[in-house]
Amino acid sequence: MQEATLILIKPDGLKKSLTGNILTRLSETKLEIAAAKMVRVSEHLAREHYKHLMDQPFFPELIKYLQGDLHDRKKVMALVYWGEDSIKKCRQLAGATNPEEAESTSIRGAYGRITTQGLYENVIHVSSDTSEAEREIKLWFSPEEIIFDMYPFKEALIRETKKLVWV
Ligand code: UDP
Ligand code: MG
Repeated sequence: MQEATLILIKPDGLKKSLTGNILTRLSETKLEIAAAKMVRVSEHLAREHYKHLMDQPFFPELIKYLQGDLHDRKKVMALVYWGEDSIKKCRQLAGATNPEEAESTSIRGAYGRITTQGLYENVIHVSSDTSEAEREIKLWFSPEEIIFDMYPFKEALIRETKKLVWV
């Protein structure tokens, strides 16, 4: 099935200068990049992204991690990959959630670690199923940032919305 996957290169991946390596590994899949950008992650965005893990003991540390507070890099790289079985292909390349259990040839196996607090710093996020991918892609991207029409959208006139513009 043709499907979309959200990929995040997490702050540890950026700090360790792994962007090129990770994108090269992902290019082995021959999937299409449908969107890409650098994002300053607000606390709200981090909490929304990981809201299914809210009750976990590691949640506060995980939010700090995604926001870049643990790596002095307050940014992540967000991408949407599109194509046949994209979720399965990208998760396979990423490897298991726990970097110690991930195959050593996988991205997480090669570059991840467990912190002394017990958090898995595993370099990359990959959506785990199509409904999670849709929720996450709509959270991280607006329709005009994706190069083709992946999900239905509409035009809306939004008044009184604060937006940054160039001076
Ligand atoms: N995580 C962790 N400890 C755990 C489970 C998860 O530190 O026991 C972190 C890890 O960074 C992981 C993220 O929380 O990537 C999201 O967890 P999820 O279960 O969704 O794993 P993923 O889909 O990223 O493999
Ligand atoms: Mg997950």
